[in-house]
Amino acid sequence: MTIADQIEIVRQNIDQYTEEAGRPAGSVRLLAVSKTHPASAIQEAYESGITEFGESYLQEALTKIDACKNIPLIWHFIGPIQSNKTRAIAENFDWVQSVDREKVLRRLSEQRPGQLGPLRICIQANIFSEPQKKGANPQELPQLLDLAEELPNIELRGLMVLPPPVSEFDRQLEQFTKVTQIFNELKQKHSQMDRLSMGMSGDIKAAIFAGSDMVRVGTGIFGQRKPRKPDNQN
Ligand SMILES: *Cc1c(COP(=O)(O)O)cnc(C)c1O
Repeated sequence: MTIADQIEIVRQNIDQYTEEAGRPAGSVRLLAVSKTHPASAIQEAYESGITEFGESYLQEALTKIDACKNIPLIWHFIGPIQSNKTRAIAENFDWVQSVDREKVLRRLSEQRPGQLGPLRICIQANIFSEPQKKGANPQELPQLLDLAEELPNIELRGLMVLPPPVSEFDRQLEQFTKVTQIFNELKQKHSQMDRLSMGMSGDIKAAIFAGSDMVRVGTGIFGQRKPRKPDNQN
């Protein structure tokens, strides 16, 4: 199947789940996660109308951003952030969904070139307190959101989550529903948050049923990823 065919299927699924969930048509955005796939795959997805792409590995992403600079794409950084990489992220991305600590947030704000406008941010939340996972835990979230709102070159837009992988629909739904509850509580103070980024190829239905505003789909669009060589190029 071509990338265009896969995108068509993912779109149909999103539309169907959105309708089944009783949510307004078009209320769930699709982020194409293009990590490990070449710029030619991004170009192909763009020709099917995809404009937002998610990347996790900085060096690889910069090469592709440069290769695609003549098409109007919106780039989201969704990978782990080392603090010495914040400048390149602030200078080259439109969104960062994986901000999980104060130091990174402050550096992104300081290093964002003014002419690009504020960097749109989702705070990565570790709601299920998995010690090995990235993300701010529920105790850390309020302070991080307050800071995101204060910093001059940051536009706080929402939360991103990567819950523990579970295969049963009911368990997925239970986890995502908990995230939505926490998101709604935090929104009482930070009402500008309009983006709850959750759901990947294997769990978009549960994510949409629970209230996701953006699903991040890699495998479902581009096919299986080859294992990456471990390196320090992130
Ligand atoms: C890789 C990745 C995805 C996409 O995962 P698939 O299962 O391939 O759809 C989504 N979100 C994040 C944060 C990722 O790192």
